[in-house]
Amino acid sequence: MSHGAENICAGCPYNCKYCCAKAWALFYKKIEPRQWLAHKLLRPIHPISDYRKPPNSTGKTILYPSTHDITMKHYIYHLIKIRNMIYSGNKVLVISKANSRVIRNLCDSLLSMKQSVSFMFTIGSVHSKTLKFWEPGAPTFEQRFKALSMHMKEVIQLQYLAHQCLMHILLI
Ligand code: SF4
Repeated sequence: MSHGAENICAGCPYNCKYCCAKAWALFYKKIEPRQWLAHKLLRPIHPISDYRKPPNSTGKTILYPSTHDITMKHYIYHLIKIRNMIYSGNKVLVISKANSRVIRNLCDSLLSMKQSVSFMFTIGSVHSKTLKFWEPGAPTFEQRFKALSMHMKEVIQLQYLAHQCLMHILLI
């Protein structure tokens, strides 16, 4: 069960047609239509001062992110944010359309915190043409499946992802 969500960016390059976050942001004039794809940080994140905040154990499970995905463009800041949430005593549920490079880096970087992080991959269709229509900037099915397969192999080899990653495949 989650206790809220955190985000660090405004806009999302995946530009899904069904995106509620985009509709909400445009409706309330939080962002200009052309700014959505720019996918900028909401505020500057300092790699040092934002890295470790004082422990403040809340015991919550926080969804991350909910109004954008995690891309390589701001990867280091996503990692800082996730680590800070965990250092503060929370668990983090990472929700992503599974860019394989991003997920591999996250799993490697968060290995020592595997008890506090889980993953939910969303794969709306097994057909990349369908995905391209609904989620024009998002990874293809092949790319998402590659991410999934790659980590399933690592579960066998490294014996950690089975506990570290809770993967949900949502088939529409
Ligand atoms: S990945 Fe999520 S936040 Fe990004 S455009 Fe698609 S639905 Fe919106």
